[in-house]
Amino acid sequence: MDLAPNAPTPPRVRFAPSPTGLLHIGGLRTALYNYLLARGQGGAFLLRIEDTDQERFVEGAEADILESLAWAGLTFDEGPGVDGPHAPYHQSARSGLYREAVDRLVTSGHAYVAFDTKEEIEAMRAREMAAGDANPKVDARRRGSMANALTLPAAEVEARIARGEPHVVRLKVPEGEAVVFTDLVRGAVSIRSDELDDQVLMKSDGLPTYHLANVVDDHAMGITHVIRGEEWLPSTPKHVLLYRAFGWTPPAFAHLPLILSPSGGKLSKRNADTLGIPVSVRQYREAGYEPGALVNFLAFLGWNPGTEREVFTLDELTAAFSVERIGQSGVQFNLDKLRWYNQQFLRALTVQQLAERARPLLAAKGIAPDAHFLEQAALLLHDRIAFAHDLADDYGYFWSDPEAYDEAGVAKRWKPGATAGVVRAYADALEALETFSGDDAERVLRETTDAQGLKAADLIHPARLAVSGT
Ligand code: GLU
Repeated sequence: MDLAPNAPTPPRVRFAPSPTGLLHIGGLRTALYNYLLARGQGGAFLLRIEDTDQERFVEGAEADILESLAWAGLTFDEGPGVDGPHAPYHQSARSGLYREAVDRLVTSGHAYVAFDTKEEIEAMRAREMAAGDANPKVDARRRGSMANALTLPAAEVEARIARGEPHVVRLKVPEGEAVVFTDLVRGAVSIRSDELDDQVLMKSDGLPTYHLANVVDDHAMGITHVIRGEEWLPSTPKHVLLYRAFGWTPPAFAHLPLILSPSGGKLSKRNADTLGIPVSVRQYREAGYEPGALVNFLAFLGWNPGTEREVFTLDELTAAFSVERIGQSGVQFNLDKLRWYNQQFLRALTVQQLAERARPLLAAKGIAPDAHFLEQAALLLHDRIAFAHDLADDYGYFWSDPEAYDEAGVAKRWKPGATAGVVRAYADALEALETFSGDDAERVLRETTDAQGLKAADLIHPARLAVSGT
């Protein structure tokens, strides 16, 4: 193959969730945008499990991530269960790499061992706050007066470590510099290094923090684009400093806009709960959403194709997606819109597919219609429902005779001594039909009312009440 000398390398991107709970819809959006970039440009999409924080680890969370991605159709090229040239893809199995990396930074003077306890750091903060600093932190101004390898003699540092004294390794953030990087969504971002703290890279348990492991792995795995939520933007200057300290070229960054609550502010778990908005992918799955509908909806939560078109399959999104069309401003979550998407995807199913979706949902209610009847019902309701389970939940009269009749309907539509006779006459006329169709049923209905000098409505409503109860 004859590659042009400057042919762009295909992107390598990753979704790097921490297994701390059920996969959040914001997480699925991040995974989706990464997937779309990789698939659209012939690149690779990796899944990396960032499981170094043992306190936040939740049993079953990884299985949920894998199931949710599979449900949404987001296949990955490297990761747990698939493997690949950079295995293992669990950070908990890569500790050696982080240890080597942090040793390198200590040796090169970009990081230092620090012994200060939580209490000592708190005491420092209290002192500095009393002296007028609103937000004191361990940084260039204070590290010179704290217990660390920069202030203690080397022999003492070694002795303390040898004694097993708890210590961390911190990044030595340079003083008085502008840390600058380009975000593909926001353009040039510049942060003063004095606003950053000397980030802990290695904790006292010997495990790396997110920042260290994330940068080491993105580099080791050849990641070209880091696409993640805006909440990680404040971490990026630290990452840029880490790349610089290691002498590595940073990847391109793209931070996705915040997902906002319909009531304003960030869509947090708490305000979502109050508004009845599910936040985990699993909840949407269980509520009967079509994966294509959720994916389509999430694609538009921060991106747009630049046209009026709204309905896209995953493959169509892949073809249409570009990082340039990701917006900067927060996007409001709209459950009605998602419902609308679900309706569109449900309509795109064949009647047989819809019937197959509905069958287990009916079975769960002890309803087992014959295949033809179920398809007829699905055909009638196809354009009216938003969920396959509506067939089981809202149209009970297809599956059994009514057990009760809507009281207001009876009061309004059913005249004692009169209506029953008309409905009976109609039923008899229907029984006598040789063929039965909607047109036949309507013709016979009009004949019945004409014969009795009534209006069609005098029979339509009672007939509906009689067969449906509503
Ligand atoms: N582990 C981080 C998370 O849970 C990854 C953030 C990133 O993509 O850098 O979202």
